[in-house]
Amino acid sequence: MRILITGGAGFIGSHLSEKLLKAGNEIIVIDNLVTGSLENIAHLDNHPNFTFINHNVSEYISIDGDLDWVMHFASPASPVDFEKLAIPILKVGSLGTHNALGLAREKNAKFFLASTSEVYGDPEVHPQPETYFGNVNPIGPRGVYDESKRFAEAITMAYHHKHKIDTRIVRIFNTFGPRMRADDGRVVCSFVSQALLNKPITVFGDGSQTRSFQYVDDLVDGICKMMEVEFNQPINIGNPVEFTINQLAQMVIKLLDSKSTIEYLPLPQDDPKRRRPDITRATTLLNWAPKYSLEDGLKQSLDYFRQIALSST
Ligand code: UDP
Repeated sequence: MRILITGGAGFIGSHLSEKLLKAGNEIIVIDNLVTGSLENIAHLDNHPNFTFINHNVSEYISIDGDLDWVMHFASPASPVDFEKLAIPILKVGSLGTHNALGLAREKNAKFFLASTSEVYGDPEVHPQPETYFGNVNPIGPRGVYDESKRFAEAITMAYHHKHKIDTRIVRIFNTFGPRMRADDGRVVCSFVSQALLNKPITVFGDGSQTRSFQYVDDLVDGICKMMEVEFNQPINIGNPVEFTINQLAQMVIKLLDSKSTIEYLPLPQDDPKRRRPDITRATTLLNWAPKYSLEDGLKQSLDYFRQIALSST
């Protein structure tokens, strides 16, 4: 298949590009490198079936030849980006999704949207099934990301209904692994880097808030399974084992035999208190379940995190 992946030089996009390229597909990556990096795709670059285009998908996209899939994975996604990149985030979720859908329509291609557990906001239903509408503050600091993805889902479903495009929506829960940016700021990346350098581990709030962490290979496996079934409603892909942020900090300290202490800092506004995916849909429809525990995934990622932690000193 000939597959276009927006954001294919990012953390998740680059793993997806690699897996689909290895499976024998032709991959075209479009990325403006605002949070992605050429290093993430350097090992793919001289492959005959791989093309990189430096372009902002919030602007009109033009591609020669046929496409089988347009997969829209472009977007800054870390809470540390929400203030600095507020407008690019809103644009790539709205204008970028519109452009990517328009391209899929022109090419008669299938369309795949990377959405997020953030559409559930600070959830009042736990764990979160896809049928839950969410609890999002549209004007809070996270609103720029949450609402752009909610809009992206809405326009994807509208194109599906009006233009009969075969669409997929994956709601991605907290994911970690190699190729996260050194300054990504998300909790696994931050804690592991801090622990490796024996620096204080920065727990926001009292650390009782929860998340459920999946290793990136599990996510990419779920995405590829979604490409094989014709199901247009959203599907949660995430690891349903839930940890408090305090538990994560303790696990990282123990695993790395680190001398780090814990430093408690203020909780950011609208930080979700609990998050855990209900993955009934994924297990039933895709026969998918995560293979890596948090600890296994951390072990897989350690070499990478060590490399970025050391280069930051
Ligand atoms: N967090 C933390 N210390 C950090 C970074 C994050 O305690 O250095 C907390 C954050 O407040 C949130 C959780 O870890 O409750 C997950 O944050 P992250 O930025 O990884 O992603 P989120 O799930 O909030 O989008």
